Amino acid sequence: MTTPLHITPLEEWLPVAVHPLVIAGPCSAESEEQVMETACGVASIPQVKIFRAGIWKPRTQPGAFEGVGTKGLKWLQRVKEETGLLVTVEVANPRHVQQALDHGIDILWIGARTVVNPFTIQEIGEAIEGRDIPVMIKNPLNPDLKTWMGAIERLNRMGIHKLIAVHRGFSFFNRSPYRNAPMWEIPIELKRLCPELPIIVDPSHICGKRDLIPETMQKALDLEMNGLMIETHFDPSVALTDKNQQITPARLRENLANLILRRESVNGEFSQKLEELRSEIDKLDEELIDILARRMKVVEEIGAYKKVNSITILQLKRWRQLTRDRIEAGIKMGLSREFILKLLESVHEEGIQRQIDVMNRDES
Ligand code: PEP
Ligand code: MN
Repeated sequence: MTTPLHITPLEEWLPVAVHPLVIAGPCSAESEEQVMETACGVASIPQVKIFRAGIWKPRTQPGAFEGVGTKGLKWLQRVKEETGLLVTVEVANPRHVQQALDHGIDILWIGARTVVNPFTIQEIGEAIEGRDIPVMIKNPLNPDLKTWMGAIERLNRMGIHKLIAVHRGFSFFNRSPYRNAPMWEIPIELKRLCPELPIIVDPSHICGKRDLIPETMQKALDLEMNGLMIETHFDPSVALTDKNQQITPARLRENLANLILRRESVNGEFSQKLEELRSEIDKLDEELIDILARRMKVVEEIGAYKKVNSITILQLKRWRQLTRDRIEAGIKMGLSREFILKLLESVHEEGIQRQIDVMNRDES
């Protein structure tokens, strides 16, 4: 961050101060009936203050449903009038901004695919300039805090002070139960660097499936995040986008009622630290597994080479030397002899098995 942010606190611009701030509504507006039925469902949940719906949908595959476009803005106007909820839509270019402003949309959000492009952020900022509308900025797809902060800072420098960051997880090549890895250490670092900036969490896009949503909602609160954005559809089974991660208004009500609001400070600080350390462990374990898998591949290559050259699998002299070297190196790094030996034996055993498999493979 090159300059400090100037953020208008949430409670100064939200008509109702709430914690956590809850935003609910479908991934996409699909029809007036779907929007109204879902909106009426979420409006009866006391914690929900803002209704979301995507009108222009960024889709990976061309030809997929790309949103209903401008006509959906009229449905959102109806939601506003009939339920009293504030309404928010995703904008990805100045034309979207203009149309949203023309239809009295209360809050804009910038999606994960848009936030990476400084030209687009600049153009969106210019279209908003002077209009005093709040903007939510999702994190970029890639785990890059600088890009996220760059977009926030760019808008802030253009005089947009009502800003909220939205944590929606990150694309990550490693397998994980999540659609987008939460990598909590990134929003935690954002909070540390910009304590005045509210951060809300989008468990729907992090989880990708309904079952993981409640625990992710709780985690967001335990980490002292300011709110939640939850994709809600009156019948997720027929949703045109993101159907596996949307929940019904009834389920949302239940999930919110089950949340435990812990005391701030001691608990929050403690769990933030714990989460940072756990994230660190998760990353290290992923690396460890990756390295072990790569080591086994090399072992198999050696097996194939030994086979071609008719060399025995077990090379005792080499194994003894390797064990001695690794134990020595491990002890220098503060690891115990017993631990390294156990680890090496286990790795060696698996390696031998892999080589036996290679030896047998082509003969069968
Ligand atoms: C969405 O909120 O529906 C959406 C498209 O989100 P993201 O930009 O986080 O993928
Ligand atoms: Mn979605």
